[in-house]
Amino acid sequence: RLQQRIHGTTLEINLNALTHNFNFYKRQIDPKTKVMVMVKAFAYGGGAAEIANHLQTMGADYLAVAFSDEGVTLRKQGIRLPIMVLNPVEESFDLLREYQLEPVVFSPEFFKKLGYYAQNHQIQIPIHLDLDTGMHRLGFERHHISELKALIKLFPELKIASLYTHLVGADEDEHHEFSILQLEQFMEMKAEVESVLAYKPLIHALNSAGIIRYPTYQMDMVRLGIGLYGVEVTGKYDGSLKPVSTLKTTISQVKELPAGATIGYSRKGALPTGGKIATLAIGYADGYDRRFSQGKGFVLIQGRKAPVIGNVCMDMVMVDVSDFEEIKAGDEAIIYGEQISLKELADRIGTIPYELLTNISTRVKRVYY
Ligand code: PLP
Repeated sequence: RLQQRIHGTTLEINLNALTHNFNFYKRQIDPKTKVMVMVKAFAYGGGAAEIANHLQTMGADYLAVAFSDEGVTLRKQGIRLPIMVLNPVEESFDLLREYQLEPVVFSPEFFKKLGYYAQNHQIQIPIHLDLDTGMHRLGFERHHISELKALIKLFPELKIASLYTHLVGADEDEHHEFSILQLEQFMEMKAEVESVLAYKPLIHALNSAGIIRYPTYQMDMVRLGIGLYGVEVTGKYDGSLKPVSTLKTTISQVKELPAGATIGYSRKGALPTGGKIATLAIGYADGYDRRFSQGKGFVLIQGRKAPVIGNVCMDMVMVDVSDFEEIKAGDEAIIYGEQISLKELADRIGTIPYELLTNISTRVKRVYY
């Protein structure tokens, strides 16, 4: 409460909803299938350490981050679960070792660099192999497989903890056929790699949408991301997920303005017949996207919609509250949460819920309940 009064904006994280969503996914998969949770990008904006800690007590099997320093932060906060790092760099090899982080290896060059590092330090390093079946972002392609097999034999210090691929469009009907092609190609590529291993690595491919769409491909592990945070990206959940985060702000001032008044920078907001505006304590520096300017966005005040008027400023935004009778400084405005879906907001500005979630800046206090 005090924090909300000081800064005006809070991101409330409902850990019970997180538990609910985690258990929902657990029910979709075989009890033997492990769950890796993506806590990269500050756990999709929700706060990596707090969420990882909660996941640890809930029985998640693995965590994944994008960069090594995200993993280091988690270790420093006492997180003991194995952590996969999607995009490590050579400069972070010492950190990976010191903090027991498990790098993804995605190219023959990277395999060699890490292999020599492991040899020089006489250590074993658990690694994860990204097999590129169509994302074309990182990963070994089909033509790398024979070289990869040779490298695996050459560097037994690198212990293959898992083999995985990533689907490009598991949440979109139009990409169904491509997803199946990717999964089939992955099965072939992983079989090739397994043929030179004397042990069994974990095999995984499915993200949140994939878990729902392709249950027969859940294999040894799934990689849960956006669904855990309560965002339904496939439209196939029938409301089974609970929204986890609510972004709330406060009205700083209410103004009655005369006919013809313009509002905000560049005079982009206008009240031709006069009216009332409320200035909210949130702006693009908090992660309230500037594309919500000029009526693209709205907030909920007293359960009713108030459209954005004018341009979103760095630390504030004005909304049209001409129709509101009782409204005053200090009242609450909801940016998103149970009553406003992230999907709807994202659609309005041509983006995706992932971007809205991960853009909430660190100056916004996270509150857990
Ligand atoms: N796996 C990988 C490799 C990813 O990069 C991501 C997220 O971007 C995920 C899984 C989780 O995806 P989602 O959040 O759609 O569940």
